[in-house]
Amino acid sequence: MSWLLTRTLVAMLAAVVGVMIGRAIGGTFEEGRLGGLFGGALSVAAVVLVDAWRGQQLLSWLRGAQDRAAPRDAGFWGELGYRFERAMRLRDQAIVTERVRLQQFLSAIEASPNGVMLLDGGDQIEWCNSVAADHFGLDPVRDRRQRLTNLVRSPAFVSYLQKGEFDEAIQFGDALGRRMFSVLVRPYGEGMKLVLSNDVTERERADAMRRDFVANVSHEIRTPLTVLAGFVETMSDLPLTEVERRRVLTLMAQQTDRMQALVADLLTLAQLEGSPRPAADRWVSVAGLLQRASVDGGALSAGRHQITVRGGDDAEIAGSDTELLSAVANLVNNAVRYTPEGGRIELRWQWREDGGADIDVSDTGPGIAREHLGRLTERFYRVDGSRSRDTGGTGLGLSIVKHVAQRHGGEIDVHSEVGKGSRFRLRFPAARVRQRGADAPAAEAASGAMA
Ligand code: ADP
Repeated sequence: MSWLLTRTLVAMLAAVVGVMIGRAIGGTFEEGRLGGLFGGALSVAAVVLVDAWRGQQLLSWLRGAQDRAAPRDAGFWGELGYRFERAMRLRDQAIVTERVRLQQFLSAIEASPNGVMLLDGGDQIEWCNSVAADHFGLDPVRDRRQRLTNLVRSPAFVSYLQKGEFDEAIQFGDALGRRMFSVLVRPYGEGMKLVLSNDVTERERADAMRRDFVANVSHEIRTPLTVLAGFVETMSDLPLTEVERRRVLTLMAQQTDRMQALVADLLTLAQLEGSPRPAADRWVSVAGLLQRASVDGGALSAGRHQITVRGGDDAEIAGSDTELLSAVANLVNNAVRYTPEGGRIELRWQWREDGGADIDVSDTGPGIAREHLGRLTERFYRVDGSRSRDTGGTGLGLSIVKHVAQRHGGEIDVHSEVGKGSRFRLRFPAARVRQRGADAPAAEAASGAMA
């Protein structure tokens, strides 16, 4: 109320000054009194005018953008301006705080690996994160306020949204059929919807692979089992001579061997997939490894092929002895099984310039047509099914080799030409190979050896 007191005092002062001026001008008492009243009224009018001018100043500041400070004044209008300005500043701060919070919230949703979209009551897009935009083929900015059903091509999704039964998620594919999405809608507020989507392409692919795998295994086991069942029936129903009995037993043994080989390979694969990578601090002698694989191959070949080993004398690979032997032996085993009698098979160790090294298993066999090369390491993929089975193949050998290579930081590379033989190469990185006795990383050892 201090502003009222000031104003009253100023008005009184103005009246007194006015009266004094009036008296000074007027001569008689009456004229002096009139002059005093007039002077007082003028002074009060002057105060009111000044007030009105200051009020106008404040009003025009309020009407404007308030981009400069409110008019400063020690009195009534000054305080009013200050209060207005403070209230506006607090409001602006609150808006900024809320905006930051909203932005943080949206950034958190944006960081989600799943698609998130908000639809209003008319199924128009209120907001969506970039993952949802990618899933539905939208532009998060341009397509805002557009009706989702006008933009999404999948009829399954459109009818799901229109039906309004959102108890379960729906799956649909993109236009090219390359990706699969699972979408769940959750209604909220007044007719609004939260649309959650995720990419299930990999999961679906893994499921399909698992289904294929089970079907393949069942098929692989059923065939020898059917043969065995037939022989059992033959033996129990027919009176066989000793020679026939022996022949049937040999054939039965072949089928059980086949099943045993399949089960052994399946167990090896399961173990490779389910165990941690072999530690990189156990060093395996390459010479010993190649020698053992060559001896195993020689036993299988029984002198029908010429098997040679080259290089690798002082080399070592870090990893699992059993796994590495199984990989190299599988390659040699294939070379022996697919290369006709009289062919040559070579096991060779070679340092690379980048410090890594390769184990090559080459043969002079029939070779493999180019279109099969990319699929050879798939489980149960065979170029020639009957040849593979006749020679005791399970269709899992190269799949095992690929796993072993990958578990040792390497890869398998196949080079083959029909009629000219094949070369299967296991490539190991520098970190996994070294020269025997060298503590230094293999790269240095390798360059030393090549120099
Ligand atoms: P399998 O048990 O049938 O040999 P693999 O996974 O070891 O299964 O090999 C997959 C296929 O690759 C084989 O069925 C065969 O057709 C082809 N293959 C593998 N190694 C050779 C090779 N050295 N020469 C020719 N074909 C080969």
